[in-house]
Amino acid sequence: MTAVPAANDFIRDIVRRDNDRGTYAGRVQTRFPPEPNGYLHIGHAKAIVVDFGIAEDFTGVCNLRLDDTNPDTEETEYVDSIVDDIEWLGYSPARVLHASDYFEQLYAWAEYLVTNGKAYVDDSDNETISAQRGGFGKPGIESEFRNRTPEESLDLLRRMRAGEFPDGSRVLRAKIDMQHENMQLRDPVMYRIRHADHHRTGDTWDIYPTYDWAHGQSDAIEGVTHSICTLEFDTHRALYDWYLEQLPLPGDQPKQIEFARLEFTHTVTSKRRLKKLVDEGVVDGWDDPRMPTLRALRRRGYPATAIRAFCRDIGTTRTNSRQSIEALESYVRRDLNATSQRRMAVLKPLKLVLTNWPEGQVEHFEVANNPENPDDGVRSVAFTGELWIERDDFAEVPPPKFFRLSPGREVRLRGAYLVTATDVVKDADGTVVEVHATYDPASRGGNAPDGRKVKSTMHWVSAPHAVTGTVALYDRLFSATVPGERTGEPLDDLNPDSREVLTDCRLEAALAETAPGQVVQFERLGYFAHDPREALLFHRTVGLRDEWAAIQKRQAH
Ligand code: ATP
Ligand code: MG
Repeated sequence: MTAVPAANDFIRDIVRRDNDRGTYAGRVQTRFPPEPNGYLHIGHAKAIVVDFGIAEDFTGVCNLRLDDTNPDTEETEYVDSIVDDIEWLGYSPARVLHASDYFEQLYAWAEYLVTNGKAYVDDSDNETISAQRGGFGKPGIESEFRNRTPEESLDLLRRMRAGEFPDGSRVLRAKIDMQHENMQLRDPVMYRIRHADHHRTGDTWDIYPTYDWAHGQSDAIEGVTHSICTLEFDTHRALYDWYLEQLPLPGDQPKQIEFARLEFTHTVTSKRRLKKLVDEGVVDGWDDPRMPTLRALRRRGYPATAIRAFCRDIGTTRTNSRQSIEALESYVRRDLNATSQRRMAVLKPLKLVLTNWPEGQVEHFEVANNPENPDDGVRSVAFTGELWIERDDFAEVPPPKFFRLSPGREVRLRGAYLVTATDVVKDADGTVVEVHATYDPASRGGNAPDGRKVKSTMHWVSAPHAVTGTVALYDRLFSATVPGERTGEPLDDLNPDSREVLTDCRLEAALAETAPGQVVQFERLGYFAHDPREALLFHRTVGLRDEWAAIQKRQAH
């Protein structure tokens, strides 16, 4: 596993240099600034680990700031989930702040810019404004309203605020340079008219600030020193700085630093695209275990510690790349291997009857809960002459290389006895419904006294002791490595078999005691998370096989 020392990334270098030079008097303040228009996803985890991690490393402060400047898409439901997900990941914001709390200050600063001739009200419609912006190598055209007097713009801005004009009829624009090679500086829009209720400010406002006009100013108001965001804001940095340089700031001027987004194969990390999956019923909701949201990963049993370790170890760079989802799963597996208790569960049950078992006898085996962790203790597992085994572990006519149970073959029932199949019972269709076998009483614990070898060890559950439960198996939600790469639409790459639900699973009795949300290892099958709400529903977190190790080995050759 590649472990880039967290202390060595380029952002920490910048912070260290600022500290050495006394730029912010040794202060380090970051923020995590999601727009509350959806649930946080695995990409956000990276930003959280960077923002909070840097504050931690430099004994600074990291706040959560809800970047709630768009009344059309934001909801309190999302705010609550964001706060909760950050806590689950293991971080505590110093404060929970809202960009909407600065609307009054932002507006005052807008009037300040208008008064100084640095902003103007434009009566052009959206189409005209974007057409006049030009493009790369294409000159911009100055709006006919660009040179109206500050007095006139101020009057119009106040009337925009007072709600006198309809949506979309006017905007406030910064007056920068319509020929600037960076399109962001071609007189960007600062305010739009929008007669909409905001989830916090209600109907107080009829104009709303754009992202660029709100973001840097919010940073400055809060005292942020290092404003860390993702690479797509690279071209916005000049505008971020321009606004701050025009204004009488209450303190130091914050600095924007960009890094590459975290993306994975076989999934999408964009709230807009995730929302579409929910809205179109492709998944059951934001916490459907196939989703890459933090909600869903948590329900599926991903430990927060594994997500944090992964985000740290991949390092922070300015090069966009896509991580293999198998690499993240490998972190999850390693974490769960150390922490999760072992249990036996039969997902597709087939009855195994031991014909020489003393009628009515019950034996109990003491089994270690987790061989990786003796502190987890032991439990008692009941064994009888009527058992459930996996249907896939039996073949009446074994194909080549099938070493599990078949007539005449001896196998080990894990930790219990060696058994040899003798014959089968079939239903009218010829399907095997019961296997008969004999056990060797001298093999108690699963070892033959004469040292004879058996090729297979199988899991089992005592039928009279079993509880019935439901197990959901998951595969990739998108079959393509890069969903949407072919057609631009990720939905075209959906894997139709991303979920298989087995409702007749036979579980060892101890599984009835599993706590909500607890993850256990089902012997031979993988790691499974107990649903937080529905008892005896288990979600497969990951299988046991480390596909990432195989991928790395292939790449090395
Ligand atoms: P989306 O496209 O999913 O809506 P966004 O960038 O609009 O994402 P915000 O909620 O506005 O998301 O972002 C909050 C913070 O999280 C921002 O600083 C953003 O740069 C960061 N972020 C969002 N997605 C990722 C990602 N995939 N990897 C790393 N950081 C991310
Ligand atoms: Mg966004």
